[in-house]
Amino acid sequence: MSGRNVLVINSGSSSIKFALVNEDQDEFIIEGLAERIGSPEAEVTWKQNGEKKHLSFPNADHSEALAQILPYVQEAAGHLDAIGHRVVHGGSQVHKACHLTPEVVSIIEQNASLAPLHNPPGLMGIEAAQKLYPELPHVGVFDTAFHQTMPDYAYRYAIPEELYTEHGIRRYGFHGTSHLYVSRKGAEMAGKPVNDSCWLVAHLGNGCSATAVVNGESRDTTMGLTPLEGLVMGTRSGDVDPSLQIHLHRTFGYSAQCVETLLTKKSGLLGVSGLSNDMRTLIEASEQGNEKAALAIEIFCYRLAKSLAALSCALPRLDGLLFTGGIGENATLIRKKTLDHMRIFNFKLDDAANQACTRGTGGTISAEGHPLVLVVPTNEERQIANETLAVVDAN
Ligand code: AMP
Repeated sequence: MSGRNVLVINSGSSSIKFALVNEDQDEFIIEGLAERIGSPEAEVTWKQNGEKKHLSFPNADHSEALAQILPYVQEAAGHLDAIGHRVVHGGSQVHKACHLTPEVVSIIEQNASLAPLHNPPGLMGIEAAQKLYPELPHVGVFDTAFHQTMPDYAYRYAIPEELYTEHGIRRYGFHGTSHLYVSRKGAEMAGKPVNDSCWLVAHLGNGCSATAVVNGESRDTTMGLTPLEGLVMGTRSGDVDPSLQIHLHRTFGYSAQCVETLLTKKSGLLGVSGLSNDMRTLIEASEQGNEKAALAIEIFCYRLAKSLAALSCALPRLDGLLFTGGIGENATLIRKKTLDHMRIFNFKLDDAANQACTRGTGGTISAEGHPLVLVVPTNEERQIANETLAVVDAN
């Protein structure tokens, strides 16, 4: 097989998403997900040549799970040239993808308290993969790196300076790999040079964030110190009054742990609907008259519209709005409702085009003569593979 192969690994607390990406092929050679790691039901499913495969490995930890998966990847690849690891939080120290040297691994450890759900499992994946493939280059691609170009007035909170200088408390932003990929793809689709283009990008998946991208750089984004700030998400509240936490503690005796679980796992679409964190389920329920599901959708769209309008302050002009992520790429209703809230922007959808852009089909969905709106399918694995190879080539 010609072209280099990169294994992309994205380790979550109980899951490992992986893809084998060949630099010359559009389709991934293998794409899979190991789930329920550490439990008796631990299993992996993957797709290879259109065929679905499955393996169970009861009670396997991250290291054992990878050890079971990698021989299949190796066999399918023939040769592996590098491993690209998705890392969520690189703090202020990491501005771009880089080799996972002991110094960089230590930075990921230092930032674990800012991304407790993401950095520790990421480290487990890195450690396990480095042990299994010590001879290969291992590159970290950081969610926070793309947002390091934000100006200080966008990334600083209005709190005492020493919290920033001594404890690194500032806005970092996340989903950078997706915002980077989508803003570049959007420029390509619109026939504009990346270095002279201005976008609002809405990445709407189970986690949601929006970013203002100017000339290929992030200028502001909705997520902050942690991936909890900003938009309403599947199970995350997004912005709330900061005093809510103090109120819950002082008046009702909630512990810090309890508040964290409440705002990160029990809020968002799930919290409001009491039904599900999944947008598809909520749209179906709302069509059948479920009022709480309908309200969750309304809050989601209004808050998204409000945040996009706020982010427009970071743009010198608007070349277009880009929708991506599972919801952004598929939920025609959410795209429509969101734009309906942004009346002074003069957005108008072409209804047929909006309906046509689902399930991986991207394109223009705005009506002629109105500001450009595009659906741009994201591809974080491809972006991670590209950045991994760029780091390998630079050395
Ligand atoms: P992601 O995290 O990017 O995989 O996105 C997951 C979210 O996308 C979930 O809320 C899904 O319900 C939502 N989603 C996927 N397909 C559709 C669809 N056809 N309509 C509405 N929401 C969808």
